[in-house]
Amino acid sequence: MLIRNAEIGCGLRCVDLRIDGVRIVEVDECLQPLAGEAVVEARGHALVPGLHDHHLHLYATAAAMRSLDCGPPAVNDSDQLGSAIAGADAAGEGQWIRGTGYHESVAGSLDRTMLDLLAPRNPLRVQHRSGRLWIFNSRGLECLDVRDEDIGSDPLERVEGRMTGRLYDADTWLRSRIGGQRPEMGALSRRLARLGITGVTDTGHANDRAVLAAMKDSVASGELRQQLAVMGDASLDLAEPEALGARVIRGSHKFHLHDHDLPDFQATCEAIRRSHAAGRGAAFHCVTRGELVFALAVLAEAGTRGQDRIEHAGLVAPELIDELRRLRLRVVTQPQFVYERGDAYLRDVDAAEHAHLYRLRSFVDAHVPLAAGSDAPYGDPDPWKAMSSAVARRTRAGEPMTLGESLTPEQALDLFMSPLEDPGAPPRELKTGAWADLCLLDRPWSEARTALHEVVPRMTLIRGRVAWSADGFL
Ligand SMILES: [Zn+2]
Repeated sequence: MLIRNAEIGCGLRCVDLRIDGVRIVEVDECLQPLAGEAVVEARGHALVPGLHDHHLHLYATAAAMRSLDCGPPAVNDSDQLGSAIAGADAAGEGQWIRGTGYHESVAGSLDRTMLDLLAPRNPLRVQHRSGRLWIFNSRGLECLDVRDEDIGSDPLERVEGRMTGRLYDADTWLRSRIGGQRPEMGALSRRLARLGITGVTDTGHANDRAVLAAMKDSVASGELRQQLAVMGDASLDLAEPEALGARVIRGSHKFHLHDHDLPDFQATCEAIRRSHAAGRGAAFHCVTRGELVFALAVLAEAGTRGQDRIEHAGLVAPELIDELRRLRLRVVTQPQFVYERGDAYLRDVDAAEHAHLYRLRSFVDAHVPLAAGSDAPYGDPDPWKAMSSAVARRTRAGEPMTLGESLTPEQALDLFMSPLEDPGAPPRELKTGAWADLCLLDRPWSEARTALHEVVPRMTLIRGRVAWSADGFL
């Protein structure tokens, strides 16, 4: 394939670019088409390396695409929640109704009794936006085969001996009860390709060797077309990275911290050391200050390697930025949370800590490697909206959130440009010999940079093959 007149380097120059097989083989001005070569006229539009989403949850996102949206902006109050669930219950035929994205701002703290009123007929489960809590109605609890009196035999919350319908941090148990049916990923892969995404990191902390094998199969079969890095639990220390093939990387050991229930310090240090010895990094979920302090302490004790990472870095006090740099950690954050969740943050987080929320520029200035991921399905998977939020730093209601943390459009793009195995490293370049993972935009960079949220990729190539084309070029 020959791509003609494409703007590369964020407006630096216009070139022609030849792809043969999985790689870029020539970048020059005025390349002539070879006999039988497909030609794409880029018309001066920006061509960038395919985007990498460095933090998402594939199965949950694929499942969410077939779920009822129960949170903002689609559902904002109890009336809207009621009509969404009641509609699904009326149409349901005894199958699970699966709701996602719930937040207390909609209708307070949900429980079984409230859900029974909305959905008396079908089993219903609603997931909290954090991903850590499911709430079931009574029909749902019946399907789980749990009873109020069986205290201690299941992880469901009980108050005065009665199940509230709430289930915290028990996805593995839940899967064992409702079947481990893995959602089909083809539709999600196509959706990501339309957004220009050519590589993703699944950051599930419970991913074990069976999940890794299943994801590898999804890539091998072509169902999932993106390059893939798979984080997971300690069992992946024993997986053989060489056996995963060229398209799948074994990712870091993911530690999912809970502020209120932190793991044993020494045991965590040992687990980090074992994963390091197996050639893996350690990745810590750190949303709160307490989680970050714990992660930094165990990493300081266990010793760090270049690939260790902090996920989210939701709340970072100034003195901890130095510690992140000293420990050579990298940060993978979600810039779009400022837009999506900023109004709730400004309301719920202590005003003195507003400046610590989802920082960007402070990390760049401190030379802490910084990359981004959507955290889909808990965040919007659209990286162009995330870039826009990284530049604007405005909430959905338009409130500014520490404008001093905003990035330039070029820095925002770079959050998605580093290699999957090296998030926060300098951006990949379109040059001879590079992988043909490409995203052609619908406008030149000079226009894209001022309206990032409006960007629509025209074409996405993954390893030289067209994964998406708005022009029907397939
Ligand atoms: Zn996540």
